[in-house]
Amino acid sequence: MMTSSILIEHLASKSPYFWVNPELDNNDLVSDELAIPSQEIYEAEKRWKRFGPLLAVLFDELKGSDGIIESELTPVPMMQEELSRDSGNVIEGQLYLKADHSLPVAGSVKARGGVYEVLCLAEELALKNLSIDQNSDYRILTSPEAKKLFSQYTVSVGSTGNLGLSIGIMASTLGFNVCVHMSSEAKTWKKKILRELGVDVVEHFDDYSGAVAAGRIEAGNSPFSYFVDDENSERLFLGYSVAALRLEQQLAANGVVVDGDHPVFVYIPCGVGGAPGGISFGLKVKFGSAVHCFFAEPTEAPCMLLNMAAGYERDLNIFDIGLKLDTEADGLAVPQASRLVTNMMKTLLSGVCTVTDEALFKYLYQLGKTESIKIEPSAAAGFAGPGMLLGSAQGRAYLAEHGLEAKMQKATHIVWTTGGRFVPSFEYEEFYSKGKMANLSGSQNRTGA
Ligand SMILES: *Cc1c(COP(=O)(O)O)cnc(C)c1O
Repeated sequence: MMTSSILIEHLASKSPYFWVNPELDNNDLVSDELAIPSQEIYEAEKRWKRFGPLLAVLFDELKGSDGIIESELTPVPMMQEELSRDSGNVIEGQLYLKADHSLPVAGSVKARGGVYEVLCLAEELALKNLSIDQNSDYRILTSPEAKKLFSQYTVSVGSTGNLGLSIGIMASTLGFNVCVHMSSEAKTWKKKILRELGVDVVEHFDDYSGAVAAGRIEAGNSPFSYFVDDENSERLFLGYSVAALRLEQQLAANGVVVDGDHPVFVYIPCGVGGAPGGISFGLKVKFGSAVHCFFAEPTEAPCMLLNMAAGYERDLNIFDIGLKLDTEADGLAVPQASRLVTNMMKTLLSGVCTVTDEALFKYLYQLGKTESIKIEPSAAAGFAGPGMLLGSAQGRAYLAEHGLEAKMQKATHIVWTTGGRFVPSFEYEEFYSKGKMANLSGSQNRTGA
């Protein structure tokens, strides 16, 4: 175990690292003393169900699923082979993608959190101001009366792109005014989609935390403003957590057993932490010590690793250690992790791996080439996980400590691909060529960690 000053030096050097959480609790039951009780996941699932009929009316692409926003669990055997070759470590067991890159409505994992938070707000306002209750048919929320109610309110949010898209699409569809504060990383095409929806897009020449702060100030204390606080939102967190209930069904449908002898390893890209945190919380509630949750962050923005490893007390951000957020992974370009999430994950998270931009592009290319699946750079971060778990000293120590070495043939690895559906093809072609180049020049995993 590195001391925190050596670890900070390592992170500052931007070399990939596989960090194992020394405070992981191997208990099968998630403590009921956390800030968010696990029961809330089931309440969130009920809310999604109440809104299903309405969502099916609002979005054509949800007609076939009764308004449920969900992605597939897909085996990717050719990518598994590619990663084994690339990392120099044979990945036994089976590798799946949780294909949130193709989630309907928002085209990224934010379709879980962002859409859910807007639904919470709409329900709260509707129950208070319209004559409906939780058993009503929520399709009534397309009525002129409901639209008039929502149009009195402005929803604002700070974003590096994808959260703004999900909030903007959902809130404007219901009739809210929306103001999205975009940080400097945000892609032009994401701003364009929002503007076409009538969303007020404010561009900041500042990083993500700056954009969030601007949104928070602007929303201020007006009773008609609602601020989606990505650095602290329980609603976002719970929206994401429902993914675990869905994944449980999908694993069962694929005949995947999850227990002490059949471990599941999950690798999820991490920005501020809400998405991977909420999903992991749900998975730990469902599967306890049989599931091992790892986050993946850019070497240029390892804010979660920094906060979890170098002490909660100090609230370090990545600028404090000399990093610059210089990454193409716009969804992960965050200097400061969510305090809510670091607290929730303190004993639940197995670890964090960091990934260079070069490796992100390489994985994006490999996935496109082997499986014809298109993702955005942020969504590729999790692919570093299996190789680093098997190939790094820290990863091997983790497997030994948990008695997992002899069980790896029966293991399931799930890489969560978190975005990409809306990426314009000219952008994708550019990512793909960069990845092809990176693929030629070799791997991070064989040398690093
Ligand atoms: C937002 C985002 C993430 C990470 O979610 P956080 O809640 O910020 O940790 C990962 N991938 C993509 C594509 C994203 O847009």
